[in-house]
Amino acid sequence: MCEGVLQTTVQSIVRFSGIGLHTGVPVNMAICPAPADHGIVFERTDIRLGNARIAALFDRVEQSPLCTKIVNHSGVSVSTIEHIMAALAGCGVHNALVRIDGPEAPILDGSAAPFVRRILSAGVKQLRSPIRVIEVLSTVEVHTAQGWARLGPGAGLTMDFHIDFADRAIGRQSKSLDLANGAFVRELCDSRTFCRASDVKAMRAVGKALGGTMENAVVVDGDKVLSPGGLRHSDEAVRHKMLDALGDLALAGAPLLGHYEGHKAGHTLTNMLLRELFATPDGYRVRECDTMLAARLPGAGVGAHEIPAVA
Ligand SMILES: [Zn+2]
Repeated sequence: MCEGVLQTTVQSIVRFSGIGLHTGVPVNMAICPAPADHGIVFERTDIRLGNARIAALFDRVEQSPLCTKIVNHSGVSVSTIEHIMAALAGCGVHNALVRIDGPEAPILDGSAAPFVRRILSAGVKQLRSPIRVIEVLSTVEVHTAQGWARLGPGAGLTMDFHIDFADRAIGRQSKSLDLANGAFVRELCDSRTFCRASDVKAMRAVGKALGGTMENAVVVDGDKVLSPGGLRHSDEAVRHKMLDALGDLALAGAPLLGHYEGHKAGHTLTNMLLRELFATPDGYRVRECDTMLAARLPGAGVGAHEIPAVA
């Protein structure tokens, strides 16, 4: 069997400490090696009673527009998992137990670069089972009042994303990317969460963004970028939306082969899209990954040297 088509996990435990963006709560998180066909599973180590494990799957997502939150049948949850999920998918890690001692993943610098850097320096280990991929066979599309998202057939995972904000510091941005061959690490992983200054007050009023600072989010106001140091890329906002989309698509439970298009989309729309896909008979098939396919997956052949120097 060719080595390039085997499932992976992390070589050793990868640890992080930080605060949650929305809760402001300090948290320790450890990405631990896991066996083949385990998938990505979170475990709340601060919960002693009942089932503290939550599989990172689309049907465990509780609707929350500002972040991705997964909940198990006992009501135990972890929120803001999208950047760590994007980092794992982008580094080609298929199996891990993510142990965390609080309700929200650490935000770190607001991007996925710190996760990527440490996952790649710990190393990725191959397991003895083949990768299975989910191949999209027909197009599904979902709409809300805010925007729409579409997922259709594609040879690898490709994305088109469009955003349009009134604040001129963001404005209209579009980006297309083929996520094969380390493109996530090179082009998306260092792009940070962003928000409008006008939204910060509103979020705080409802108990969100309590851990948000100018260091872990890009804050814009009209045509100004308020965060010190400015932007990492002129189109950092759309790149971050694509990072979020990769993390949310990873909740399919296996790498996806398809073309994703998001127009002013976000966590809610991407989750609706996966629910629609898996509810569509003949909309997809699960297949074993051969060498040709493996080369088109986001995690193929990535190295830490590809993380942009700005992060
Ligand atoms: Zn995000």
